Amino acid sequence: MLLHNGSSFVIYFGDKKDRCVKATRNYSFTSFKNIKKVLPNAEKLVFIKQEHGVEGVCIDDHSQIPTEITLFKQKGDFIITSLRKVGIGILSADCLPLVIYDLTKHIIAVAHVGWKGAVGDIVLNLINTLKNKYGSKPSDFNIYFGPCAKVCCYQVENIFLKHLENFSFIDNVIFKRDEKIFFNLPRFIKFQLINFGVKEENIHKEYNNCTICDTRFYSYRRGDIENRQASVVLLK
Ligand SMILES: [Zn+2]
Repeated sequence: MLLHNGSSFVIYFGDKKDRCVKATRNYSFTSFKNIKKVLPNAEKLVFIKQEHGVEGVCIDDHSQIPTEITLFKQKGDFIITSLRKVGIGILSADCLPLVIYDLTKHIIAVAHVGWKGAVGDIVLNLINTLKNKYGSKPSDFNIYFGPCAKVCCYQVENIFLKHLENFSFIDNVIFKRDEKIFFNLPRFIKFQLINFGVKEENIHKEYNNCTICDTRFYSYRRGDIENRQASVVLLK
């Protein structure tokens, strides 16, 4: 477990040890109860049915989250909240858990960003939602990357490159070694964030371990088909 304890917010990046979540169709609330033990300030926990898409949900009223642990029925891959003591989370095994803290508006967001969401512009959609709905400015964002598949291990096929051909920074996110091709997912997302106005020095990568070669974490590519780790952020 990796824990970032900021003055206004706390981020939990889970791993196998924390009895992580089995991603069945109904999700496992047993594991979420364990997360609440790690985050004693969390009066409520909220997750969303992820689909590798680009949409998300904003929670600004407790009526949206009637139960102690809520799984939103609608699908989506990011959650934004202005509410204190509400832990918002995503599940992942190789995709990037992305956390945003807007230090001016005092708003948090969490997103599940795999390559499909990344090329589909989930990051742009999330930032536009923060700008349009909350008046946020990307230059005020502090961003935290959780564990994901990294370039040391994230091998892709040649055909994958067609998904990246419209991005000007493609040459900076693809690496060739021993005639194999590797994709740098966190760097791809970092380029997007900087293009959208986030300051490079505000992108924090100290929790961005590689889920494939660091066996503390579940990895879909290493064979964890159903198991996931949770990433949760909470305004204190
Ligand atoms: Zn690795």
